[in-house]
Amino acid sequence: MQKPIRTRIAPSPTGNLHLGTARSALFNYLFAKRYEGVFVLRVEDTDLERSKKEYEQNIIDGLNWLGIKWDEGPDPQNPKKYLGDFGPYRQAERDYQPHLQRLLDENKAFFCYHSKEELEAEKENQLKNKEPQRHLCSHFATGRPAGTNEPGIIRLKIDPQKIKFKDLIRGEIEFDTALLGDFSIAKDQKTPLYNFAVVVDDAEMSISHVIRGEDHISNTPKQILICRALGFEAPEFAHLPLLLGPDRSKLSKRHGATSVWEFKEQGYLPQAMINFMALLGWSAGNNQEIFSFKELAEEFSLEKVGKSGAVVNIEKLNSLNSYYLKQMPAEELRARAGIAASVPPKIIFLAQERASTLNEVSSGVAAMMEEPNYEKSLLFWKDNPEEKIKEMLEISQKIISQIDEEVFLEDKIQENLMEEANKVGDRGLLLWPLRVALSGKKQSPPPFVLAEIWGKEKTLTRIGQAIKKLETSSQ
Ligand code: GLU
Repeated sequence: MQKPIRTRIAPSPTGNLHLGTARSALFNYLFAKRYEGVFVLRVEDTDLERSKKEYEQNIIDGLNWLGIKWDEGPDPQNPKKYLGDFGPYRQAERDYQPHLQRLLDENKAFFCYHSKEELEAEKENQLKNKEPQRHLCSHFATGRPAGTNEPGIIRLKIDPQKIKFKDLIRGEIEFDTALLGDFSIAKDQKTPLYNFAVVVDDAEMSISHVIRGEDHISNTPKQILICRALGFEAPEFAHLPLLLGPDRSKLSKRHGATSVWEFKEQGYLPQAMINFMALLGWSAGNNQEIFSFKELAEEFSLEKVGKSGAVVNIEKLNSLNSYYLKQMPAEELRARAGIAASVPPKIIFLAQERASTLNEVSSGVAAMMEEPNYEKSLLFWKDNPEEKIKEMLEISQKIISQIDEEVFLEDKIQENLMEEANKVGDRGLLLWPLRVALSGKKQSPPPFVLAEIWGKEKTLTRIGQAIKKLETSSQ
């Protein structure tokens, strides 16, 4: 019988939820959903100095915001409680001692007491001889040096041999354990180091597939050796391509936002982030770019994950975000972008059409709601004289004042103004000063649209203000 699919994301709470961790979480989640498995959130808080509760909360909040739901792990309603029967889901709460003791008793692990100086000297010697750097304990005297209380460190005993494993993305990977040396696995019986804790956790949580970033590939041989020493069956491994900046170097802060929170604050929507992250390394094999969460869970497979680095392309995120923004009903958008109830829906719609992010919707709305404040020179069209511009504004004023309030709508306004603009010949001569009078901006929606939004009275007031501007000699 095939083992049930159980995947996990195991973030260390030493920083806010990183885009790379969120992408790994998404792939683990999608893989589990695709095969009706279970997705686990495990908090790797063994590094007590660097782990912080606020980072754990940020990770939980970030995954919740994205809609990546875990079946087991800290309960999002009450993180003091756990969902699932394979806990504890925080490393700091798990007892690793019996496993470490067993390895010591079976002579598979041992305490090493070599001093920092000895290790340094070994390293230097290896460097000099161009040998791989690793600690070979057998080259030194064993046992605690007489007359000291040296605490030592626990290391795994390594027999030089070649080991192979099949990475589900990268194919067969072979490594020589001689290159690893007798690597450390715990500070003492109670304090496991990263590789040891991960192996015990994955085994105790019956994790079937470890899907994680390529940066962990060098840990995999060590984890396989620890598994073997403990008599555990190793999970399957899949290493996801690294996230790169546009210059193809490893994604870092200098490329811009790297934490999910920063993207949220810049006004990206969770569904756009999910769609975007899914495409960081995976593709459906056709040109489809828009995927709902549901479609992803139906179509995701590790076979379609590529090997080469995935470039984080913000233009692509912007275009996905603008796609999802356009789908959003005006009232939802009002709530999400924090737009006042007094702003007419049409203004929200106009800002929505042009924006890539929620923040751009808010700033677009704010810009349109502002009273126009512009230099007189902006009213000018080509090299027409002031009198001509004034005459055009007066014509617009007249046309607009003749339209009835009941039919003061974009189409009607457009029809009447265009008739006149065609008569003038150069349409811009009539429409440019009018548009500036109504928006106060170099760029804005067309004057007919603005006129409908502002209504007849306000439209006429703004035209009047523009004419006055032309009459005053200063600005
Ligand atoms: N705590 C590790 C990290 O945050 C997880 C490694 C793993 O997935 O095995 O990178």
